[in-house]
Amino acid sequence: MSILKVSRLGHPVLRQVTQNVSPRELESPALQKLIDDMVETMKEYDGVGLAADQVHESKQIAVLEVADNPRYPQKPNVPLTVLINPKITPLSEEIEDDWEGCLSVPDLRGRVPRYKSIRVQAWDRSGNELDFVADDFHARVIQHEFDHLHGKVYLDRMRDFSTLTFLQEFARYWMQP
Ligand SMILES: [Zn+2]
Repeated sequence: MSILKVSRLGHPVLRQVTQNVSPRELESPALQKLIDDMVETMKEYDGVGLAADQVHESKQIAVLEVADNPRYPQKPNVPLTVLINPKITPLSEEIEDDWEGCLSVPDLRGRVPRYKSIRVQAWDRSGNELDFVADDFHARVIQHEFDHLHGKVYLDRMRDFSTLTFLQEFARYWMQP
């Protein structure tokens, strides 16, 4: 496995809509290795999610895992999940604002409105159908990664930039005790 270079804001790949993955492509060793490398890259940089365009591959693949993450303490754990060609449907109009950061937008945090509860339909890395409900932080991570796959970053979703803050100032002024 390898740790991949993460694309940063300004790289055009982050603004492209990613390509669907075919069942045949999903079976290929190259794509399975890409998934392994994405998982390793996410863990290396303490991410809770990573989309393929964040490692310069314009494909509908996202990985996520929340496990005692130092960048997001006090968040509920989410098992390692691979989403291929995901679709999401909001289950209610309820919106929640909370902090997000992004490995492609280093050193910054901002408050982003997201649906509180969503239905997620996708394939897993073996091509099995996934269909589940995600709530709260879990739903937030999936919406963040889904946006990446459609050429969006969290800055596009912020109501305004009044909460945009560097991590050092976040720790000093915004972190809840
Ligand atoms: Zn991101």
